[in-house]
Amino acid sequence: GDGVRRVPRPRRGGAGRRDVRGLRLEIDLDKIGYNARELVERTSRRGISVTAVTKAVLGCPDIAQVMCAAGAISLGDSRVENLERMRTAHVDGPMLLLRSPMPSQIDRIVRADAMSVNTETEVLSALASAARSSGRVHDVLIMVELGDLREGVMPDELHDTVRHVLGLSALRLRGVGANLACRNGIEPSEENMAELSAMVTSVETTFGVDVEIVSGGNSANLDWALGSSNQGRINNLRVGESVLLGREPLRRRPIEGLHTDAFTLVGEVIESKRKPTKPWGRPGQNSFGETPRIDDRGVIWQTILAIGRQDTDTADLSAPEGIEILGASSDHLIAQTADRMSCGDEIRFEPGYSAILRSMTSPFVTQHHVGSGTPVGVRNSVAGL
Ligand SMILES: *Cc1c(COP(=O)(O)O)cnc(C)c1O
Repeated sequence: GDGVRRVPRPRRGGAGRRDVRGLRLEIDLDKIGYNARELVERTSRRGISVTAVTKAVLGCPDIAQVMCAAGAISLGDSRVENLERMRTAHVDGPMLLLRSPMPSQIDRIVRADAMSVNTETEVLSALASAARSSGRVHDVLIMVELGDLREGVMPDELHDTVRHVLGLSALRLRGVGANLACRNGIEPSEENMAELSAMVTSVETTFGVDVEIVSGGNSANLDWALGSSNQGRINNLRVGESVLLGREPLRRRPIEGLHTDAFTLVGEVIESKRKPTKPWGRPGQNSFGETPRIDDRGVIWQTILAIGRQDTDTADLSAPEGIEILGASSDHLIAQTADRMSCGDEIRFEPGYSAILRSMTSPFVTQHHVGSGTPVGVRNSVAGL
């Protein structure tokens, strides 16, 4: 030999475990399962079923299965690509395409065997002819505008749209829905929900049909659904953020008893130095056309993480105690830390909905699932910390 003793390199994570390092989004399946089960139970006491929305997690099949096991009656996603991903992974339950179909994707939507939301008669006709030529019946839900000014037929167009659907034998009218709080933040209320109920009843009496699904809205409807003494005809909600993040989106308040920390963005330190907080030289705009406001706090430990705006919405991350995010460019996140950190040290951030959306679609962020999909109670998890 060469006289050099070879010391085996320490293995991280223990034998048999995959090395989990680098920029990653940790997703706790147990916490998501718990949130989903809680919401299913709370709404079912009001006669409301849950369509669990998977778009923020790109139709991740593991998460979809957890949501179904928790009692969601169907899965909703805005993209046919995500519905196809779940179908390929043998997620078999009912699915709903949450966004009006792109005409270029009509055939795929019919083949994905999902119901779709609709507002345009020309799209409905195209769905009917695609369904007819593949020998299928395609289920539809008509969306009505209630004031948030995103998708939906105007209330006075609803009857004409229903008549159009009923005239197409390859389509089946399954329900009527509405969406609020997404574009203009218009809140679900006793008034607009009663208006939706009245429209449903009017469709039924006019056309002699049974409107099976009345989908009142998204996570922003939970306060109304759980608080109102009269849910009227509303018997379904499509919920994403409240299941994934345990928050209601109108005020981003945590929902009592749910986990708000199922997602963690873990980043890696690449530089940590004593630096002044005040830049020097002649100031112009930064790389994003912004002129940052400088808050001079003297000399600090400036720590850089390999996380950038390409990886997440850096303005939507919460840093742990003792660490403050000062700014971010495409590939660098600048934070103030109490001490020098070593390169390779990890910092765990709590992402909001917008940060999760961006991280899920960044090819640089890996996804790491923890937990088995067995729901963990909030109390247990707090006690376990
Ligand atoms: C995204 C979406 C939802 C889910 O919204 P959350 O706020 O995440 O609950 C429901 N319905 C439609 C039409 C959507 O686009």
